[in-house]
Amino acid sequence: MLRAVDGLRIAEDLVAHPYSIPLVTRFRGITVREGAILAGRAGFGEFSPFWDYGDREAVAWLRAAVEAATLGFPPALRTEIAVNATVPAVGPDVAAAIVRESGGCRSVKVKVADQGDTLGVECDRVAAVRDVLGPGGTIRVDANGAWDPDTAVGRLDALDRAAGGLEYAEQPCSAIDDLAEVRRRSKVPIAADESIRRSVDPLAVVRHRAADVAVLKVQPLGGVRVCLELAERLAMPVVVSSALETSVGLAAGLALAAALPEPPLACGLATGQLLSADVTSRPFRPRRGVIRLDGPVPDRLAAVAADADRRAAWSCRLRDVARLADLTASPCPPGGSDPR
Ligand SMILES: [Mg+2]
Repeated sequence: MLRAVDGLRIAEDLVAHPYSIPLVTRFRGITVREGAILAGRAGFGEFSPFWDYGDREAVAWLRAAVEAATLGFPPALRTEIAVNATVPAVGPDVAAAIVRESGGCRSVKVKVADQGDTLGVECDRVAAVRDVLGPGGTIRVDANGAWDPDTAVGRLDALDRAAGGLEYAEQPCSAIDDLAEVRRRSKVPIAADESIRRSVDPLAVVRHRAADVAVLKVQPLGGVRVCLELAERLAMPVVVSSALETSVGLAAGLALAAALPEPPLACGLATGQLLSADVTSRPFRPRRGVIRLDGPVPDRLAAVAADADRRAAWSCRLRDVARLADLTASPCPPGGSDPR
């Protein structure tokens, strides 16, 4: 049951519940994850753009949340989704422990190109992951666009050998032309993430023959239906990834993964354990490498509610982004009534 919590009304039948949840470890430069859960007639949606996203960029995030809360999701074609473990820039022992405790994930994404990482350190990290996974699992690396093409080609060659084969390299360079060059010169397949999600032209990766795999994130791209349409036009294997969300945001990613005509590759949706708490008492966690699609009931909104200051900050942000998104925007003052 949904506990009664004061919400911010941002449109008719749409109430926002700002949350604030510490991360288990620092990630993406932040230690606390913030956002708002939107409750609407069809269910719940998550609006949690990072603060380095401006209001205009956050419009897509709000559209995704409103879609989930007011329309719900398209029909699911599968009931469980294979997911990957994520290994940040850590030493080999910690990397091995993360894989061992990953809930049976057979695919692991390893962060590389972190500040101060040498090639030797990165090779030790992927080798440690391979030791735990054995020959049957898949390893992918994510450089978040940090390398130039020459560095990328050299590093990927070495990492491919150290890992006993890489499934793909995610965003080795930031520019699409550079991505295309690395794809021509390296035998490691290339996945595009930022080139799709932060681009005004997500299909440019196709025209430039810059990627073999597309990483899709529901909130930054504007919703499950937008992503389904984009996947069809990209016409390449898809990985659905989270934006470090609560289980409500993960539900939208899982809904996309379940609605794609072709099953996606192992998805980056096992990120729930990076949060120290969740909006639900039954958070999404992988078992035997898959997450089942049982919809989460956000029964812990009161427990993770933002304090008055952060609530006011999210109220302003919702008002400003809703105006840009063309939603009727008249948030209640903090303490406004919740119709539920
Ligand atoms: Mg990425």
